[in-house]
Amino acid sequence: MESTYEFLVKCPVCSQPVVVPISDISVIKNSPHFPVSITHVHNDHAFTIFVDKELRIRAVEASDIIAELDSLKKQRKIKELYIPIPFPKPVKLDGLLREELILVSLSDGTRDISEIASVLNISVKKAKLLAEKLVREKKLLKVEKRINSSI
Ligand SMILES: [Zn+2]
Repeated sequence: MESTYEFLVKCPVCSQPVVVPISDISVIKNSPHFPVSITHVHNDHAFTIFVDKELRIRAVEASDIIAELDSLKKQRKIKELYIPIPFPKPVKLDGLLREELILVSLSDGTRDISEIASVLNISVKKAKLLAEKLVREKKLLKVEKRINSSI
């Protein structure tokens, strides 16, 4: 006997019709509680359907599971910090480009490169490369890698 089942749902996030396949319908039929909730990932978002004993959809709800995953990813991303460390004495800044000047002046030994990148409106990767170039040119002491242990 075929135990797979498909629910046709209108996605509450993007309003597209979506087929939600269930590989084993007996899991729903034998559930001790109703309605049964099934969360379905649709493109970059997700929704949850609530199904009763007769396999009727009782409710459809947008799910924030993707937003939760994104915020977890962000937390992981800021775990590694790159801190540009300035020289203890002022350095000659002539000949530097505007972005480089701002980067050097924002480097106070506590600011993370991603923070500086957002001020400069450039990517973190680009800011990191720029900071490394400034270290080679002796405008910055070093770029220190720190692990953020508060997370
Ligand atoms: Zn959708």
